[in-house]
Amino acid sequence: MKPANELLSGIGTTIFTVMSALAVEHQSINLGQGFPDTDGPADVVQAAADALLDGRNQYPPMPGVPELRQAVAKANKRFYGLDVDWASEVVVTSGATEAITACLMAVLNPGDEVVLIEPLYDTYVPVVRMLGAIPRLVRLEPPDWALPHAALADAFGPATKAILLNSPMNPCGKVFNADELGFVAELVLHHDAYAICDEVYEHLTFGGKRHIPLMTLPGMRERTMRIGSAGKTFSLTGWKVGYVTSCRALASNVAKAHQNLTFTTAPNLQRAVAIGLAKDDAYFASLSRDMEAKRDRLADGLAALGLKVLPTDGSYFITTDFRSLGFNADDVAFCRHITEHAGVTAIPVSAFYDAPNPPNHYARFAFCKRPEVLDDAVARLKRHFGQG
Ligand code: PMP
Ligand code: GLN
Repeated sequence: MKPANELLSGIGTTIFTVMSALAVEHQSINLGQGFPDTDGPADVVQAAADALLDGRNQYPPMPGVPELRQAVAKANKRFYGLDVDWASEVVVTSGATEAITACLMAVLNPGDEVVLIEPLYDTYVPVVRMLGAIPRLVRLEPPDWALPHAALADAFGPATKAILLNSPMNPCGKVFNADELGFVAELVLHHDAYAICDEVYEHLTFGGKRHIPLMTLPGMRERTMRIGSAGKTFSLTGWKVGYVTSCRALASNVAKAHQNLTFTTAPNLQRAVAIGLAKDDAYFASLSRDMEAKRDRLADGLAALGLKVLPTDGSYFITTDFRSLGFNADDVAFCRHITEHAGVTAIPVSAFYDAPNPPNHYARFAFCKRPEVLDDAVARLKRHFGQG
C-alpha cells in the first residue's frame, strides 16, 4: 500500500494521552494531563443542560452563536480595554486546539516561517509542518525561562509570517511581562508579521501578575489573533469551546479555516459559555485565587520532599527538577517510575520540545486538583522516596 501521511505516521500519540492511560493502568493520581478534578460553575453547567432542551440543536451560525460572540467582545473590553466588533471580529471554535490550527491556516502559505518558543504545547509544531510552513524554534532556558532577546531577533527574517506566543505558558508557568511583550511586538512590526496568541490561561495568573494580551500593545491590534478557552476559564476542559479575537480581515480567514475544519461548535455549550463570560469579577478573582492556593499547596509539598520547584506565575502547572531526589535517569523514566511505583503521574518536560537535546531532568505536575488529592500525591511520593 502507498504510505499514508508521513508526518502523522511519524509522530506518536500525545504525551497527555499516554500518561493518562498509564495513570489509569497503575491507579495512580493523575497530576499529568491538565484538567481540574471538579467541574466549573454549576450555573454554567445548568445553562448548557437547559439549552439542550429548548430546541436550538441544529447547526448554529458558522462563526459562533451571537450570544457568545457578544460575550467575548464584552470580555475583551472588560478585562483588557479592547474595543471589539462582535459580529466581524470574533470566531468561536471547538476548543483552543482548533483555534490554534485555524489561526495558523488563516495566515500561512507553504514555505512561510513561524517563530515558536520552546518549551511549547504539543500541537504547534506538527500543525505548522502540516501546513507546509517551517518552524523557527527559540528556546527558553530553565530555571528562569528568560526571553533570549538576541536569539528571538535572529529567528525573525524575511520569510517570517508569524510568531505563535503562549502566555501564560504551558508547561513552565511563565507570564510574559510588558517589556518582553514590547520586544516581541517590535519584531512583529519590523518584519511585517502576524502574532497568534495562545492565551488559554489568561485568567489563571498568580501573585499579582496580570496577563497582558500582546494585542493591546501599540500596532498589534490589526496583526494579532488572540485565543481563549472556556475549558480553562470555566474548569470545563471537556467542552472544547474556544474563541478567537482579531481584526475583521483576519477573522474572515479564521472563520474560513473553521468552516473547513469543524464548521460549527455545539450550540448549547456556546450559549452556556456566554453566561460564564458575563460572570461578576468575584468569579474570576476566585478562580485565580483558588488555583494559586493549590499551586502553593503542591509547591510546598514537593519542595518539602526535596524536589527543586521552579516558580510558576500562571497556568495549571509546576515544573520540578528531580535530580535533587537522587534520581539519575531521564524525565521520561522518572515520570514512568513515579506512576508505577509511587502512584503519582507527572509529564516529562522534554515532551514540550521539538529541537534536539531538550532538558531532560524536569517533570511537570498539574495542581488543578482538590486539596486532598494534592496532599495524597505528596504523601505517596514521600512514602516512596523513603521519607514517610
Ligand atoms: N493551548 C495550551 C497552552 C494548552 O495548555 C491547552 C490545553 N488544553 C490548549 C491550548 C488547548 O485548549 P482546548 O482544550 O480549549 O482545546
Ligand atoms: N492542555 C493539557 C495539558 O497540557 C492537555 C490537553 C490534552 O490532553 N491535549 O496537560
